[in-house]
Amino acid sequence: MSVSVEENLKHIKERMAAACARAGRDPKEVTLIAVSKTKPVSMMMEAYGTGIRDFGENKVQELLEKKPQMPEDTRLHLIGHLQTNKVSHVIDKTVLIHSVDSLHLAEKIEQEAAKRDLISEILLEVNVAREESKFGMFVEDVTKNLEIISGFPHIRVKGLMTIAPNVENAEENRKFFKELYQLYVDIKSKNIDNGTMSMLSMGMTGDFEVAIEEGATLIRVGTGIFGSR
Ligand SMILES: *Cc1c(COP(=O)(O)O)cnc(C)c1O
Repeated sequence: MSVSVEENLKHIKERMAAACARAGRDPKEVTLIAVSKTKPVSMMMEAYGTGIRDFGENKVQELLEKKPQMPEDTRLHLIGHLQTNKVSHVIDKTVLIHSVDSLHLAEKIEQEAAKRDLISEILLEVNVAREESKFGMFVEDVTKNLEIISGFPHIRVKGLMTIAPNVENAEENRKFFKELYQLYVDIKSKNIDNGTMSMLSMGMTGDFEVAIEEGATLIRVGTGIFGSR
């Protein structure tokens, strides 16, 4: 069966608009990140042709290979676990690192960003569902880590990210999205972030509508656009 990226995108965008309408949100508040991991540049270019500029990759090597093959205004998001020894390779090639899952990693990003005299925009990854198989900070550790990272001059914490469990029924993940949204609002109200937070990255092919209803500003959709991997 052949996959039409254009058709798939049209369908996803309709579903995004409907979820925004249900939640009384402005569709402009939600950015679709096309998760292109394992998919060829030719398919990414089909998405680009329909106006998509934000793409998500989970491996540093793949991101680095694809970057020079895509037009200049392509925005590559790193969404997968980042090892400290790869930070220097990717730091100036990605617009946003979604997967900062430890203080140690943030320290390394600070070091490498300082060397290049740039400011790295990041999200803190939170393991809301406390799954052993997943990376991310536990909810109760986010505030104290953020207090430290907010003091790093070459990092700007733009928000929070979570990867919800793989479930049959997306409704099962609503509680996790609500919990992350609550944490985000608490942090903003206490100004722990120095006012830099504005992004909530949550929701994938199976559950992005629920995530939008619960406040996502970035959704990461792979299979729903490019087909199964
Ligand atoms: C692969 C991946 C996605 C996209 O998953 P789909 O179910 O294909 O939409 C989103 N976020 C992260 C972190 C991923 O690794």
